[in-house]
Amino acid sequence: MHNPVAQIIAEKGWCVADGATGSNFFDRGLEAGYPPDLWCVERPEEVLRLHSAFLEAGADIILTNSFGANAPRLKLHKAEDRVGELNIAAAELARTATQQHYEDTGRRAVVAGSMGPTGELFEPMGSLNHEQTVAVFTAQAAALAKGGAEMIWIETMSSTEEVAAAAEAGRATGLPVCATLTFDTARRSMMGITPADFAQFATQIGLDMAGSNCGVGPAELMDSTQGLIATGIDIPIVAKGNCGIPQYVDGAIHFHGSPELMAQYALFARDAGATIIGGCCGTTPEHIAAMVRALNTTAPRRLDSQAMSAALGEPWAALAANEQSTEVSKRRSRRRRV
Ligand SMILES: [Zn+2]
Repeated sequence: MHNPVAQIIAEKGWCVADGATGSNFFDRGLEAGYPPDLWCVERPEEVLRLHSAFLEAGADIILTNSFGANAPRLKLHKAEDRVGELNIAAAELARTATQQHYEDTGRRAVVAGSMGPTGELFEPMGSLNHEQTVAVFTAQAAALAKGGAEMIWIETMSSTEEVAAAAEAGRATGLPVCATLTFDTARRSMMGITPADFAQFATQIGLDMAGSNCGVGPAELMDSTQGLIATGIDIPIVAKGNCGIPQYVDGAIHFHGSPELMAQYALFARDAGATIIGGCCGTTPEHIAAMVRALNTTAPRRLDSQAMSAALGEPWAALAANEQSTEVSKRRSRRRRV
């Protein structure tokens, strides 16, 4: 199987994935609660604009605007019958952007078909089962492939059951498959998976690339990245961290990480052994440009944990012992509610 990402990594040692989608669209008029996926057909010029900005910033991988374009999520907006249309459009827009960038600069970038969680839970806590979930993701992955995606990128997952179903659907397209979990709950995913558990699982199901995204801030993302790499896993590892720690301001979540902070994080991610480095929520093209610049102008170093803590902060520092237990019980009740 041709893996264009592995090829870039073989050439320069690492590659850079893009930044946020949703939080960048909020600045362009996306209303809270409105599915960004619909912008592939309603505001295609905005989707193209964001892809192009990330390409100009130096990203090697562009994720399609299809994170929530699966039937269970689209159903919340009465658009569950538009999976094919939206995912084809998402992949075509990203291909248009990478093709244009290639014509302008001679630099190739890879289109990764993004698939996020269904938002539902597996049996016995919820109603999802494996076959049904494979069918949901098959509809999405097939449309992404049809639109021109060059790999399938499963992200922000919390359960291995859902990754297994999405990866099976992804593999059926014949494209390379990457999956990232979100470790946001005291060193685990919301469903209790540790980075070490996930590394073992990724190897077991034969993922081509794996890692972590989103969650808390860059320090926690690095903690998860180190947990994955410490297992000795031998596939490319993704580190796609948020742009600083999310903060509630006036009833909305904001990300305040500076380009300098994200540049530092990118260097530490590479030092730790991650080879696919990008940004999640809050990461703008300006942040990606700073990350690319830092990676291009700094030689790989031995990981200095003390320097990393000084630059990014202590992982999970915001969770004092008692806050941790509140956080866990909050998550548990959220699980029941979903
Ligand atoms: Zn995120």
